[in-house]
Amino acid sequence: MKSKANMQDTVLFCQCERCGAQLQVGPAPGSEARLLRRSKVPKGFCVNCAVHNFLRNTYPPNIQLAESGPEILLIPHIQTVFADIMKAGFADAIPDEIDWQRIVDNWELPFLKKVKRTASNPCGQEELDAIKAGTHPGFGKHRIRSSVGGALKARKELDFCFEGLNKVVPGLGDSLKKCLQKGGKNAESEK
Ligand SMILES: [Zn+2]
Repeated sequence: MKSKANMQDTVLFCQCERCGAQLQVGPAPGSEARLLRRSKVPKGFCVNCAVHNFLRNTYPPNIQLAESGPEILLIPHIQTVFADIMKAGFADAIPDEIDWQRIVDNWELPFLKKVKRTASNPCGQEELDAIKAGTHPGFGKHRIRSSVGGALKARKELDFCFEGLNKVVPGLGDSLKKCLQKGGKNAESEK
């Protein structure tokens, strides 16, 4: 018979390596997650830091967020789009456990690892920092503004990014584009 102490040994705890949140290890057997995979070992991020880590390493969301700031993540439609990405990527995490406000509140907490350029991400940490500092044009002068409900403008040069998103998840780029254009149109049509 297993002793109580042994049974407790099988439950592992750790802290999120970025924000320090208390975590319980709960691996998902047979997981095929391509993002937000539950760890088998007591090491890694809480779900909120894991979402931020995914976004900052994923192009074009990373360049867009560097330019607009994180507040656009509070738009419900953006969260619905992200839930679609999670579904398409067989994520272990579920959308309801994400605390978007906490992600925004913790946005400036540092990550140990810098963002690297890869074949699918042309935007490394240096570019992201420069866009944020305003010394790199990013998407250019027609910035996507950070205020929720404010004017959100999509420009033609963004189209290739939306096409890229469409390739990852069919319809995702179109959906995001529609959302951004709608925000801009609403603000501009009040004449
Ligand atoms: Zn965390």
